[in-house]
Amino acid sequence: MSTTPGTLNVAATRVGTEALGPGVRSALWVQGCPFDCAGCMSPDWIPDRPARQAEPGELAAELLGDPRVGGLTFSGGEPMRQAAGLAEVARLARLARDVSVICFTGYRLEQLRRRPPNPGVAELLAAVDVLIDGRYVAALDDGRGLRGSSNQRVHHLTRRLTESGYDFAHRPRTAEIAVSGPEAMLIGVPPPGLLAAFDNAVDTVRTGTTIAKEPPRER
Ligand code: SF4
Repeated sequence: MSTTPGTLNVAATRVGTEALGPGVRSALWVQGCPFDCAGCMSPDWIPDRPARQAEPGELAAELLGDPRVGGLTFSGGEPMRQAAGLAEVARLARLARDVSVICFTGYRLEQLRRRPPNPGVAELLAAVDVLIDGRYVAALDDGRGLRGSSNQRVHHLTRRLTESGYDFAHRPRTAEIAVSGPEAMLIGVPPPGLLAAFDNAVDTVRTGTTIAKEPPRER
């Protein structure tokens, strides 16, 4: 799907979470991913189909809506497919607040630097403090860290979060469940078993109510 330059195709946002990096952060998940990892925890966000169309300025303001927010986390879907728009979100947000930026990607950093798959990749990488790269491999899911599987690497592209005390690669996983009206969503990289328990709980509730499950908010 093509969008006008800068316009983002957004799967979801979450303002104020502690499950996607150090401190209180806001998350932006883009719609569409060129990969098809077996066991992807957000399969609804793989198709390159229209979702919410939003401008960077609108998103930056939204993500900073909670004054506690000190960082942004970009995930999806594949953020590098919408790199120009995300780079602009980061730039505009930083005009208002000095936020850190974490970004997930299924690409490898070397590939992004050597052959950027989309416009704006260099600009987005320049804005990112921590990049978590590589595709999800279910067999290498060790239940640790802010990454889905142990093949995924944590790159501190700046020194900003190196002294944060947050162990991106090995920390015990945490996740949040947010319920809003008829929807429930799982935010973060869930500990082993939580995703299945979440699915079962939602399915059980759904049989008696109109609650709708949204995909987990992580990679
Ligand atoms: S795990 Fe990530 S890279 Fe793989 S298909 Fe899902 S969204 Fe894409």
